[in-house]
Amino acid sequence: MDSGITIIAEKLIDPSVKKACKMMVKDDEIIKLVGISSKKLALNVIDKVSFWLVYENNNLLYCKLCNRGPFTKKGLYLHLSRVHRREIREMLEEELRHEIRTII
Ligand SMILES: [Zn+2]
Repeated sequence: MDSGITIIAEKLIDPSVKKACKMMVKDDEIIKLVGISSKKLALNVIDKVSFWLVYENNNLLYCKLCNRGPFTKKGLYLHLSRVHRREIREMLEEELRHEIRTII
């Protein structure tokens, strides 16, 4: 169970970062990653985690985890994916555990 969560969390890093950077995340992309039965769960988790990654100030994007910025969308995407990958995975794992507990 726990290693399953880690695997799903790893898959959801990229869509979470994209969402945080206001890039399009297609439903198809999520279904391909986790399967149709987990789509809703995955979208909830992505929503929650992406909220903690980025903030906007005067229409400029900043990293909420280390306060660096401003970044362009692409720059922030690269920053989050490279610098904060592990933290984001841990946040996703925690949210997944929480969501799964709620369902059960
Ligand atoms: Zn940062």
